[in-house]
Amino acid sequence: MTTARALHHRRSTCRGCGGTKLASFLHLGETALANAFLRSEAEFAAEKRFPLEVVICSECSLVQLVDVIDPEALFSNYLYVTGTSDTMKVHNAEYAQTICGLLGLGPNDLVVEAASNDGSLLKHFLARGVRVLGVEPATNIAAKANADGVRTANEFFTTASARSLRTQYGAAAAVIANNVLAHVDEPVKFLAAAKAFLRPGGVVSVEAPYIEEFVEKNEYDTVYHEHLCYFSISALLAICERAGLRIFRVDRKTVHGGSIRMYAKAVEEAHEHAPAVLELARAERGRGFTSLARMQTLARAVDKQKSDLLALLRRLKSEGKTLGAYGAPAKGNTLLNFCGIGTDLVPFTVDKSPLKVGLFTPGMHLPVYHADELAKRRPDYCLILAWNFADEIMRQQAAYREAGGRFIVPIPTPRIV
Ligand SMILES: [Zn+2]
Repeated sequence: MTTARALHHRRSTCRGCGGTKLASFLHLGETALANAFLRSEAEFAAEKRFPLEVVICSECSLVQLVDVIDPEALFSNYLYVTGTSDTMKVHNAEYAQTICGLLGLGPNDLVVEAASNDGSLLKHFLARGVRVLGVEPATNIAAKANADGVRTANEFFTTASARSLRTQYGAAAAVIANNVLAHVDEPVKFLAAAKAFLRPGGVVSVEAPYIEEFVEKNEYDTVYHEHLCYFSISALLAICERAGLRIFRVDRKTVHGGSIRMYAKAVEEAHEHAPAVLELARAERGRGFTSLARMQTLARAVDKQKSDLLALLRRLKSEGKTLGAYGAPAKGNTLLNFCGIGTDLVPFTVDKSPLKVGLFTPGMHLPVYHADELAKRRPDYCLILAWNFADEIMRQQAAYREAGGRFIVPIPTPRIV
């Protein structure tokens, strides 16, 4: 895969405020890139590993990684295709409905999505008669989107590309960044680029995993090299201020284990953040989302989850039970790597994404089989790595359950369901 070309550097400044007071609280070890699946056993020996360490900025409270991998290496042939999950289809339909309703969008309006992936979200705007433009750096995925009728420019989203695309396609009524802001090394520049694309009255909408679940539900497996920031509303406010945006609304969403969606306008049109948003930021400070001491408590809970999960899997194995796993998401690879769960404990995983079937997971090298294989191989217990889709997976795998198979949900604390 592409990891051999990966360039790694370590930041010494906060990517939210530029400050230098970064306090480390969680080190998940040297791990392989969570989306760098391997094609064959011959690739195992040359696999690269990079430190995975989480810090909090003492000034703006942004929780973030300091180890940065060259995005060309990370994203140029990315395997995560958003269109594969039923849950995301429902979420995307709602997203388009909300934006269209909020802005009263029609056939003359343009919606731009930065890092639009396979166009799964933009298709819902097309269905509502709105013009769309995706901007997607992964060549294979941009090509798929274009083939599916979602106009997509194959490039990184920067101020330069935003200006040039704006000249070509017109200004945007809305620029959407869905589950991408946390993946960019310079979020202030990214949001400034989104702002540069807007027409007067336009809105930037950003959805990102929310730090509440990371802190309170022990979701450390959402830490992987691509996922550089773990946003609180407090930290987002500081980033938006530096990007010339003001937040007027924040919604909570259940996707990706819990997310926030914010809506912002140019500072020239909204001089202050909305009072309700500032109140949300005050409330999260009271819950420790901006505190180093709270993050250190989380780190202790993470260590306990690891020892509990390993104890459970080893006990089941010692009792002669067979094991398998469901899903091959990035988060699953963090969990497998950090806990040291290899094929000796869990011999395989299964996944619905045809792009992952036939490959091996990064780091721990579990072979990935088609989802139908779970019911055929029928291990006694199945560890759900894509636990944020646990309900959907268990519904789809009713045959496996009826045949006596049991599921293990690893997060926040390991439990058999
Ligand atoms: Zn900072």
